[in-house]
Amino acid sequence: MIIGGDNMGIADNVKDIKRRIHGAAKRAGRNPDAVKLIAVTKTVGVPEIRELLACGVNNIGENRLQVAMPKIEELADMGINWHFIGSLQSNKVKKIIEHFECIHSVDSVRCAEEIQKRAEAVGKQVKVLLEVNVSGESSKHGLSPNKLFEVLESCNDLDNVIVQGLMTMAPLTDDFETARPYFQKLKQLCKKYGLTECSMGMTDDFEVAVEEGATMVRIGRALFI
Ligand SMILES: *Cc1c(COP(=O)(O)O)cnc(C)c1O
Repeated sequence: MIIGGDNMGIADNVKDIKRRIHGAAKRAGRNPDAVKLIAVTKTVGVPEIRELLACGVNNIGENRLQVAMPKIEELADMGINWHFIGSLQSNKVKKIIEHFECIHSVDSVRCAEEIQKRAEAVGKQVKVLLEVNVSGESSKHGLSPNKLFEVLESCNDLDNVIVQGLMTMAPLTDDFETARPYFQKLKQLCKKYGLTECSMGMTDDFEVAVEEGATMVRIGRALFI
């Protein structure tokens, strides 16, 4: 490494993140293989994604369709599972279900219904997670926990929408421990409703999320520093 250089390299970062996921899972008595690393590539381009693929990371998260599309097109047939993690606009749903393996950010019945309509038209089953605002911050997207039951009920009637789990974003702070109760709450909700996938944990708090039962962590910055 060049002294003063700021790039540790994606391969080293992946190794380090996997080691930390492994450690956190072990501390909690969990199987490290039950945690999927989703690399969030919204700030980087195709070369970085190729490096991730070379490290065996093929779950890739993007939050804006327009930004993702050129990368998706250039990397077609590379075996990437694309995860949509951004806010959903109904006029984008058609394209999103065509290209993404899982949508993490469904936060209304209206949105689930739009997915149903588009999925049915092309004969597809779409895996989704419902985004929950566990912290109650008004600035956050996501369903309030007390709306969750009602939305799950409605989704039951949507044959092409497969609700696999829940997603949340913890409040941003400089103390990662403050995220813990929110992650506990999301995991509780997953258990209560018999949902398998629990998408929580980002660069600053993913070890806490893994300790509390995350099955997917969405990591951006830590991969590219
Ligand atoms: C950007 C983003 C992430 C990754 O955040 P980092 O702090 O860069 O790890 C995770 N989830 C969502 C929804 C995002 O938009």
